[in-house]
Amino acid sequence: MTVGEHRTNLNNTDDYLLNIEKLAERITGCDYKYHIITYGCQMNVYDSEKLAGMLENMGYFQTEDKNEADIILFNTCCVRDHAEQRVYGNIGMLKKQKIKNPNLLIGVCGCMMQQKGVAEGIVKKFPFVDLVFGTHNLHEFPKLLLEALDTAHAIVEVSEHGDQKENITPIKRSSRISSWVTIMYGCDNFCSYCIVPYVRGREQSRNQAEILLEIENLAKEGFREVFLLGQNVNSYKGQDDYLFHDLLEDINKVEGIERIRFISSHPKDLSPKLIEAFESCDKLCEHIHLPIQSGSDLVLEKMNRKYTREDYLKLIHRIRNLSKPIAVTTDIIAGFPGETERDFEDTLSLLEEVRFDAAFTFMYSPRKGTPAAELADQTEHYVKKKRLDLLNKTQAEISKNINQKYKDMVLEVMVEGVSKNNADMFSGRTRTNKLVNFKAENLLPGYMADVRITTAKAWTLEGVLV
Ligand code: SAM
Ligand code: SF4
Repeated sequence: MTVGEHRTNLNNTDDYLLNIEKLAERITGCDYKYHIITYGCQMNVYDSEKLAGMLENMGYFQTEDKNEADIILFNTCCVRDHAEQRVYGNIGMLKKQKIKNPNLLIGVCGCMMQQKGVAEGIVKKFPFVDLVFGTHNLHEFPKLLLEALDTAHAIVEVSEHGDQKENITPIKRSSRISSWVTIMYGCDNFCSYCIVPYVRGREQSRNQAEILLEIENLAKEGFREVFLLGQNVNSYKGQDDYLFHDLLEDINKVEGIERIRFISSHPKDLSPKLIEAFESCDKLCEHIHLPIQSGSDLVLEKMNRKYTREDYLKLIHRIRNLSKPIAVTTDIIAGFPGETERDFEDTLSLLEEVRFDAAFTFMYSPRKGTPAAELADQTEHYVKKKRLDLLNKTQAEISKNINQKYKDMVLEVMVEGVSKNNADMFSGRTRTNKLVNFKAENLLPGYMADVRITTAKAWTLEGVLV
């Protein structure tokens, strides 16, 4: 069992491929199945696509039913306590299944494992878990799986650092038209409430040539949209002073790619050049996710966000002055330590002032090891809940109101597939990232449909094909 040790010899492409081959020799023809449960953000969803790709390369088949799985993986998130508690609860529930099927392999990975003591705690609390590995060990999964299959005790591998190996992983992309592309890893911002820099490490940007090659290959495979991922894509730094807006301009030239999206943007790094990219890059979709977190300067300072409400409003002003409308969404935390009624009212008034298309709202969750968790004046749970409810109610009204303007308009919708909630309908997204459900027959994913909007709700639009 090695925890915290960085075993560089495993970062070797030959070892990686060799281990996949070894597993393939054992697995192929056995009809073994895997099931992955993913918690948290897009980075985790993407990591799960990589794990699924490796498993399928070895010969495993995906199953939606965990009861028939031979491998169950939990890809965890530790941004808020709620997600962590769900992980513990769901691992505990597998005890009976493991007793019934001792050959079932249970693995736990992702951000939670990077927290001090969590990996050891999991194997102690759940002795039926076979494999635990961290975010920096993702590409070591084939080797670790081989070890776990051949060992009676749990295999635990959690490195504190790691060189990310993007290009050696076969990826099972869940969409055939839209693809995640990681452009940078980690975060250097240390917002006082946030665990991400501790579990995902320092910022590392990928080389621009490597990213562009990956996107050109995706275009050749038929992908029409790329979703660029990073905790703060605005601070992307390629080689030779190459910045994020340079990358957008080069991706804009890739033949076959029709839509470019990115997430997430830190307001302190949103440069005028990046805002101008919405004008110069015709493929860049008209949507920006720009987390504000709070409308109070006092709270923003305690959060270590490094901008003021005024700075943020100036950015919104610049965005709204562009020649085309850009949808703006945000993240907000309710009940940060010491947040007064006055501070909270500042956040409510900011919602009214900016009128976001949507806001992702969270109750503040103290994270062990972050400065905010040590603050004495923690907000009581019922206050956080009350504020969260009020934020959601206010935002729902605003979103519904904003969406009304789309009624009777014809919008370009990129078809994703049959609607999840209504098999008679197709669904897809506008360039402004609005989800649209509409009646149509036999449309293929990736088709650009012109849809007339008939009903506008707070979170979705409905329409008919024209
Ligand atoms: N890097 C992104 C950024 O700064 O925009 C955000 C990444 S974080 C995983 C997503 C959101 O989770 C944050 O914007 C914040 O609103 C929320 N979040 C992070 N830590 C939190 C905490 N301790 N309690 C509640 N919400 C939190
Ligand atoms: Fe967390 Fe702040 Fe980094 Fe976003 S920018 S990941 S909120 S530390």
